[in-house]
Amino acid sequence: MTTDLLSPLSATFPDPFARLATQPADALLGLIALHRADPRPDKIDLGVGVFRDDAGRTPVMRAVKAAETWLAETQDSKSYLGAEGDAAYTEALAAIIFGARRAVDRLTGVQTPGGTGALRLGAELLARADGAARVWIGTPTWPNHGPIFAEAGLEVRSHRFFDPAAAAIDFAAMIDDLADARAGDILLLHGCCHNPTGSSFTPDQWHALADLCAVRGLIPFVDLAYQGLGDGLADDATATRMIFDALPTALLAYSCDKNFGLYRDRVGALWVQSASAATADPVRSNMLTLARSLWSMPPDHGAALVRIILESEFLRTEWEAELDTMRSRINGLRQALAAADPRLTSIAGQRGMFAMLPLSPAAITALREGHGIYMAPNGRINIAGLRTDTIRAFADALLPHLEGTR
Ligand code: PMP
Repeated sequence: MTTDLLSPLSATFPDPFARLATQPADALLGLIALHRADPRPDKIDLGVGVFRDDAGRTPVMRAVKAAETWLAETQDSKSYLGAEGDAAYTEALAAIIFGARRAVDRLTGVQTPGGTGALRLGAELLARADGAARVWIGTPTWPNHGPIFAEAGLEVRSHRFFDPAAAAIDFAAMIDDLADARAGDILLLHGCCHNPTGSSFTPDQWHALADLCAVRGLIPFVDLAYQGLGDGLADDATATRMIFDALPTALLAYSCDKNFGLYRDRVGALWVQSASAATADPVRSNMLTLARSLWSMPPDHGAALVRIILESEFLRTEWEAELDTMRSRINGLRQALAAADPRLTSIAGQRGMFAMLPLSPAAITALREGHGIYMAPNGRINIAGLRTDTIRAFADALLPHLEGTR
């Protein structure tokens, strides 16, 4: 039996938490619980954003397992590393992201707890540097983007991005909305594999965005969370490289959690390119002091694995081959789903793990209740949640509910 040992003081003692309102539960986490409780053996989980193989598993990558064995055998200390994390990890990653052309004296990077930590650290840095800057974010986007910048104290503004009816980017509307952006404002851009739409800017549109930032004084903040899962490691970094070449100031939040399958190990990094070598020093020292007060030091294990893989020719080849297989699986599923109905054609040309289906909220509920098909409430599906043996059943259940006549 448990007893509530109410303190005699509780009637008069201040209770600051009484002012807190209960927050709405995370929609995707709720979906995980519903899916878990569903006893149907043929249920399909397209909700959670993790890669799955054709057996529905999210395996530890072979290169990661090998690096873990090596790390366990050779690591001789777990002493503190410092707020910047593992510098050799950040350096090895910079090579695959930026290539050889890097403004080394103006570009500074630190390890962070996941891409989320990188975004938050970048947001805190920007807020400290210019609290009046607004952050422009397209709709829809990863639902955590808005809160990350808002919690850092920055004003978040939305611009149009994706037109669900056309299943395509509405670039003209985006540019139209950005007419309200002021010099010093921040423009958040998904570097590749847009979450949730899978839609990418064309190279011309990327150049137009770089020009817009240059002319209007907007600071690009690129979020690169899926490098290698779209068109390939180098191709997925092309836009990021172009942006960093074209603009004096730019930020990059990076996640290794998808392309190395390290989700719960929380592996990321933040790079900031400053306009001059003179500001690189204050930028770095502010990044480090902010990181110190946010998490003191990032978790080491996953970053150590990434460093070991990238520094070993053998493991790196193994990792790239596994990443190629993951990407081919996703793009193969995209082709198969697009072939099921003309209204799904755009899915073949999109990239990354996600696509938005033209479904009403009632249809999303009907698919869940009637067929055990789970997806985010906005119609986002994780393509990698499909399997060659379930894709037909999925398409059959889906087609009667699809909106539009394309
Ligand atoms: N950015 C985007 C676009 C994402 O989709 C995600 C993860 N869902 C992140 C950042 C954060 O990644 P991490 O899990 O490494 O924090």
